[in-house]
Amino acid sequence: MKTSLFAAVLSLPALASAQTFAVGTARAERGHTGTGYIEVPAGVDAATSIPVVVVHGARPGPVLAIVSGAHGTEYASIIAVERLISELEPAQLDGTVILVPLVNRASFDQKVVHVNPVDGKSMNRFYPGRADGTQTERASERITKEVVERCDHLIDLHGGDLDESLRPYSYWTRTGREAQDRTSKGMVLAFGLDHIIVSTDRPTDPAASRYLENTATVRGKPSITAEAGHAGTVETEDVEALVRGCLGVMHFLKMLPGKAAAVQNPVWIESVANVTSDEAGIFYPQVRRGTYVAKGATIGHVTDLFGKTIFEAKAPAAGIVLYVCSVPSMSKGGTIATIGVPKAEEGS
Ligand SMILES: [Zn+2]
Repeated sequence: MKTSLFAAVLSLPALASAQTFAVGTARAERGHTGTGYIEVPAGVDAATSIPVVVVHGARPGPVLAIVSGAHGTEYASIIAVERLISELEPAQLDGTVILVPLVNRASFDQKVVHVNPVDGKSMNRFYPGRADGTQTERASERITKEVVERCDHLIDLHGGDLDESLRPYSYWTRTGREAQDRTSKGMVLAFGLDHIIVSTDRPTDPAASRYLENTATVRGKPSITAEAGHAGTVETEDVEALVRGCLGVMHFLKMLPGKAAAVQNPVWIESVANVTSDEAGIFYPQVRRGTYVAKGATIGHVTDLFGKTIFEAKAPAAGIVLYVCSVPSMSKGGTIATIGVPKAEEGS
């Protein structure tokens, strides 16, 4: 009795020391896995239910949330979490993993890019959400309460959408809180992707955090975002990179035995320049994802429907093509590419 009380008081985090762990209707006894749903009741529009899995490790430890499918056609990230659902063994785990493989079910079902077709909103822009809002806002509110507030760390997985040819990269948010930043930096290095965007401009207000990872970050929980996969494909190397990345973070957090194999000397990207089209028409790319371009280099061009070039897209800065539009459809103001501008040296 005395020992268990002592352990309960000292144990960080307290949540994971409980014998059962429940998220939504998913409930797992210690050493077991449970599946269920985070129910989002109907409001001004339809209800939805978001699948969730709780892998409640055999021994207490941190609570790590891994979320994907805010954009339901970023398939490689969704399939990566499905892989983790089948591969994570609670007997091997110290702590608890909350897996949410598909936030935006309507996007997945209907193959709609970027937004939730129910309300036309991106499901990674309305955190922390609101209970009286549209479906995206209500789902965000439920995820904030059921997942973000219950975890110690969060990984939000994304990738190139159906219209984005993307090379893999992670985001590391620098908050200025030294201990938190040290842990999140360890996580992003353990994840293993060799290009890392340093975010310093994310909202700091917990009531207006916008992004999922940022919702956890502003609540003091070291967290990261990672992207792999492109243009509707489910390529083994992309899925593997995300699965390996999540397992690497679990090693780093000492949730799994063994040492994290952190990426050495990644490319740190200090700013991201968006290239947009001044004209609607047909887009022809002239670079591939991952290409290094000089400032002023041609990224691609847009023609009218008769083949006449009406816009040439130039790189606004020297850097790496993180993603480039992968389809000919181009709207006025649409994204042609994003260019990551590396910084010479990270650290110190
Ligand atoms: Zn996404």
